[in-house]
Amino acid sequence: MSELTHDDLCNMSHGETAFSVDDYKKGIPRWCPGCGDNGILNAVQKLCKDKQLVPEKTVFVSGIGCSSRFPHYMNTYGFHGLHGRAFPVAEGVKFRRPDLNVFVVTGDGDCCSIGTAHWIHAIRYNMNMTVLLLDNNIYGLTKKQTSPTSATGTKSNTHPKGSVLPPINPIQTTLSVSNASFVAQTVDWKPAHVFETIKAAYEHPGFSFVRVLQRCPKFMQDLYETTISDQSALTLLTHENGIKLDEKAEKGFKNIIQHNPSDINKGREYAEMTGSIPIGLFYQNKNAPRYDEYGAHNIGMPVKDRITAINKELDKYAV
Ligand code: SF4
Repeated sequence: MSELTHDDLCNMSHGETAFSVDDYKKGIPRWCPGCGDNGILNAVQKLCKDKQLVPEKTVFVSGIGCSSRFPHYMNTYGFHGLHGRAFPVAEGVKFRRPDLNVFVVTGDGDCCSIGTAHWIHAIRYNMNMTVLLLDNNIYGLTKKQTSPTSATGTKSNTHPKGSVLPPINPIQTTLSVSNASFVAQTVDWKPAHVFETIKAAYEHPGFSFVRVLQRCPKFMQDLYETTISDQSALTLLTHENGIKLDEKAEKGFKNIIQHNPSDINKGREYAEMTGSIPIGLFYQNKNAPRYDEYGAHNIGMPVKDRITAINKELDKYAV
C-alpha cells in the first residue's frame, strides 16, 4: 500500500463536497458589531470548506484576548489556552500528531507581549501550522490598555496622555528570526485579500505567519478610518509566487509593487515601509527545515516497541 499523504489524512479527497461552510460554524460570536474578527472567521470557515478539512482532524489553538475566542466558533477541535501560550500548545499537538491541521489564533497582546519568547522560537522551529495574528493595536478584552503594537501617542487606560514607546513591527520581527519561512500581512477590510492570504498560508509547508490588521470599533474607532477611505494608504505586494488577486480585486489598489517573495532583503525593506501599509507576501521559503518532521518518524510505533525504546533510554541513567 502506498504511504498516505497529509492531504489523505486531513482532507476529504473523494472529489465531492462533503462539508459545507455551516459544518464549520459553532455558536454565535460574542465579538462587538463591526469587529474585524468576524470577517476573518468567515474567511477561515470558507477555507476549511474549500479544502474540505475534516473537522476532527483540525485544531484551533489560541491564547487570551478578544481574538482568542476564535476556537469557540469553529466546529473543530480547539484549545483556548493561557495568555501567550498558544504556540507551545500548538507545537505539542503538531509534534505528536503531524496528521492534524493546526491553526494558531493570537492577538497583539497575546503574541507580541507575554508570548514573545514562544513566538520567536516557534518561528525558528518552523512546524507546519497556520498562524493568524489578529492585530488591533490595543488590549480589547480588558478594555483598552496600550499593547506592544500601539502607535506612539495612543491614548489608553494605561497611558491617558498617550503611549511613549515606539511599537513593535511584527512583520519586521518575524523576518529577523532565523528559519522564518512564510511571512505575510493583510487587512480585515479587504476580504478577497484576507482569504487568499490565509489560503496561501495554509498551503505553505511550514510555520506560516499572517498578521491581519484588524479593526476594533469599540476602542480604536479612528485607527484605520483614513486607511480605509484612501486608496493609496495600502500598497499591494504581488507576484506570480505571492498572494494572487483577481483583476477586479486588484483594481481596488492604487499602489501595486511586484515583489518576489524569495527575496528576504527586499521583504525586510518593504516591512519597514512608511507612508503606506504594505500587504501581501513578504517572504517564503518552502525548504526551511521543520522540527515537526523529527517527531513524525515514530508515529504508529507498536506499544511493545515503544516500551522497549523508553526502557533503553532509561537504562542510560542506571547506576
Ligand atoms: Fe472586537 Fe474590539 Fe470588541 Fe474586542 S473590544 S470584540 S477587538 S471590537
